[in-house]
Amino acid sequence: MAILIKTTAEIDKMRRSGEALRQVHEAVRPLVVAGASTMDLENVAAAKMDALHAISAFKGYHGFPAVLCTSVNSEVVHGIPSPKRVLADGDIISIDCGVIVDGFYSDAAVTYAVGTPSPATRKLLDVTQASLEQAILQAQVGGRLGDISAAVQEMCEAQGFGVVREFVGHGIGRSMHEDPQVPNFGTRGKGPRLKAGMVLAIEPMINAGKPEVKVLPDGWTTVTLDGSYSAHFEHTVAITKDGPRVLTR
Ligand code: MG
Ligand code: MG
Repeated sequence: MAILIKTTAEIDKMRRSGEALRQVHEAVRPLVVAGASTMDLENVAAAKMDALHAISAFKGYHGFPAVLCTSVNSEVVHGIPSPKRVLADGDIISIDCGVIVDGFYSDAAVTYAVGTPSPATRKLLDVTQASLEQAILQAQVGGRLGDISAAVQEMCEAQGFGVVREFVGHGIGRSMHEDPQVPNFGTRGKGPRLKAGMVLAIEPMINAGKPEVKVLPDGWTTVTLDGSYSAHFEHTVAITKDGPRVLTR
């Protein structure tokens, strides 16, 4: 399938979707404290979406039961909120959320430390977030998709972290997942040419240990095979002639 190009007007609509999503993330953030359950976060997010008239992009997607993915510690992605999953000091939690506003999707994720993280955990979060920012800087007209992928891989592997291969970023627009796939590993100068009007969800998923992951029997929750912690940061980014425009900031 071809990579869909959005008009400036469509990107402005996607910005409105991204702004609503940013507000959902902001509403959830104060709940990331020891003693809160991941279902507490889910409930706040769902209420905020209702208030914003934003539709969840996740709930019902292939049967996913929630508006948030809440992935704790060695969970990489697609953790399901639960009243039984109570956050504790030293945990990390990745919160992934997507919304639809006026027919356009946006998708963003962030990983927080609960309380005081160990230095090693702090480094995992900082490097993963920095790799997303480096990748966003590569989202330039005339560049290649591989420039984005390589930026993540180079930064994270230089620190000895494992880059997840099984899950990747994606084009986004009137659907949550459009072409192209946006891997977090690749080669500079390779892959499709980046053009104005492409919109990409760039989302490094980085393990403190080895890159391998497995899906738990619930069919969703994906964990690191070696039990190491995993971080996930994501923004929806439009490529414009004036440079990358982050729609979910
Ligand atoms: Mg996401
Ligand atoms: Mg995504």
